[in-house]
Amino acid sequence: MLIEMNRRSFLRTSLAFGAAATIAPRTLFAQKSDQLAQARDGAAKTPIKVTKLYDNLHLFQGAGGNMAAQTGPDGILYIDSSFATAIPHIKEALAGLSHDAPDTLINTHFHFDHTDGNEAMHAAGFHIVAHTKTRQRLSAPSSVKLFGVDLPASPAGALPTTTFDHAMHIWHNGDALDLLHVEPAHTDTDIFIHFHKADVLHTGDLWFNGFYPFIDEGAGGCIDGMIKAGKHILTLVSGTTRLIPGHGPLGDKAGFQKFNDMLSGVRDNVAKLKSAGLSEQEAIAKKPTASFDADWGHGMLSPDVFTGLVYRTL
Ligand SMILES: [Zn+2]
Ligand SMILES: [Zn+2]
Repeated sequence: MLIEMNRRSFLRTSLAFGAAATIAPRTLFAQKSDQLAQARDGAAKTPIKVTKLYDNLHLFQGAGGNMAAQTGPDGILYIDSSFATAIPHIKEALAGLSHDAPDTLINTHFHFDHTDGNEAMHAAGFHIVAHTKTRQRLSAPSSVKLFGVDLPASPAGALPTTTFDHAMHIWHNGDALDLLHVEPAHTDTDIFIHFHKADVLHTGDLWFNGFYPFIDEGAGGCIDGMIKAGKHILTLVSGTTRLIPGHGPLGDKAGFQKFNDMLSGVRDNVAKLKSAGLSEQEAIAKKPTASFDADWGHGMLSPDVFTGLVYRTL
């Protein structure tokens, strides 16, 4: 039931990306001017669900991507900022946890459903840390062709002011955090965050728990990168590690392994069709995801749309 609730609220409110579900992209294009407004409206009405992961680390779930809050005397360290309209709910939930001062906001990647709240979080006192390309991409207009979404450049206050290229290590509130960049996967801006003491890893959108993932081909994303990043993460976690996916319910190593196996299976099926000379449409018609659809095909991307993404990014 928890999963169903999470998935439903995700589908209802998660950017255009969520609303896209199984509607044809062309239909969405006509609706694009409404999508961002709708996503923000949804976020304004979505309360934050807080789940304790460790003494001073909590999962925050509402509209947009999953978030996390680490509290303590060094100040609050927060991951991702959802939509701007979610910020009042986030502040309220944080106030319920602690009176620590705002300190650091980490962006897992540049997507709007993880960064739209940046400006308000910065104004509240958080300084923003992200991959160098997250700052670059937020600094310029961007678009997601599959969903017909066009976004303006972010305001100065929303931009990360500390960036890194490969890895960053932060010692904060008694824990040691690794922030690691991966080769282009979901986008070319992805990082994941590993809290060693709490034994928690936030994957960002390298994991959509329970449904076919979106891969942002216009921002360098590709299926092989998703698989490779997942395999890297799997070497770093144990059976006790809690993994926070970018979207969907809290998970564990076994669940993430299953997701990675699915990605590899779909990739191999599509690659066979592509190397045999089939066009994208012909490959889609062969239903290469069929054996996975019962488990993964009921989320934001239809099997056909996901097959097209895999085909084009191979
Ligand atoms: Zn996302
Ligand atoms: Zn994303």
